[in-house]
Amino acid sequence: MFNQEAFHNPELCAKLLDKLEANLKQPLTFMEVCGTHTMSIFQSGLKGILPKDITHLSGPGCPVCVTHDSEVMAFLDIASQDKVIVATFGDLMRVPSPDGRSLKTAQANGAKISVLYSPFDALELAQKKPDHLIVFLSVGFETTTPLIAATIQSAEALKLNNFAVFCANKLVPPVLSALLSDKEAPKLDALLLPGHVSTVIGVKPYEFLITDFKMPSVIGGFEPADILESLIYMSEMQNTGKPKLINQYTRLVAENGNPKACAVMNEVFEVCDGLFRGIGSIPEAGMRLREKYARFDALKRLGLTLKPTKPLAGCSCGEILKGKMQPNKCPLFGKICTPANPVGPCMVSSEGSCAAYYKYNV
Ligand code: SF4
Repeated sequence: MFNQEAFHNPELCAKLLDKLEANLKQPLTFMEVCGTHTMSIFQSGLKGILPKDITHLSGPGCPVCVTHDSEVMAFLDIASQDKVIVATFGDLMRVPSPDGRSLKTAQANGAKISVLYSPFDALELAQKKPDHLIVFLSVGFETTTPLIAATIQSAEALKLNNFAVFCANKLVPPVLSALLSDKEAPKLDALLLPGHVSTVIGVKPYEFLITDFKMPSVIGGFEPADILESLIYMSEMQNTGKPKLINQYTRLVAENGNPKACAVMNEVFEVCDGLFRGIGSIPEAGMRLREKYARFDALKRLGLTLKPTKPLAGCSCGEILKGKMQPNKCPLFGKICTPANPVGPCMVSSEGSCAAYYKYNV
């Protein structure tokens, strides 16, 4: 057993910070691709005490933020259907659509929307409301997809005919590949890879970062000491000029990840192209229900399709998710766009980088 508290220890963190400062021979720009890393870096105070030569960028790691405008419009289409109750996590409620609506405004106008803490609660709702179709809005990366798959298997076992899922789930490695292939991508010296996603998929799916892109990459934990140690690994690779894929989060990330979680996920879902805000369609970066589970597909069930949309007017979330702009450089940041009046999802989500910059006054 490890002692989680030890990773907060101020003396340990001070020593790691000293080591990082001593190691740093040149400026280092790193990108994290996990909303939890975004918040940890701010919450722990690391953002303010990292050496000035370190630049921190947030990438496409916040599941709510990367959800595409067409998907947000489809959520609203679903919510407007007769005899449908939308089941969702709270973070999606205030995500604005390009035409100025949100699930919250739809709810105020009479749509039936239930905010849940677990997808399994949607099954209970389906049992209580047999005359309604319960549609769970599923967004997230590999961390949450196995849970959604398990929920669908439970719905099947319960023989529920009034439960369906809108699947907007996405995969991390393909979006990293798309990001690094972009000729206009910001110059990055290293990637901080998502610890939670990696507990499911393991280390191997990231090997292309070294073979194809020679990008120093560290799978990192979320405590301040984890992040500092990950940065030390990055600075060491920068000094030696030898990119490697390093697993710093060994206390939770096994080489092969979690085979049981992967098996459940792959039994229910198959890989398809995925739509990302600010990037568009990325080959093999999404997940859809396998034919065997097609009766749980909300869009098919309701005869709806994704429609092309224009991006949110004035919002730079797309650029922020690609690391091309820092949140406080968006002209709307803190003026027109605030957590109380969010213009884009990066200000809505508890894992959004605009929300983090605002909350921690950066
Ligand atoms: Fe979008 Fe607001 Fe962030 Fe600007 S500050 S990118 S408008 S969410």
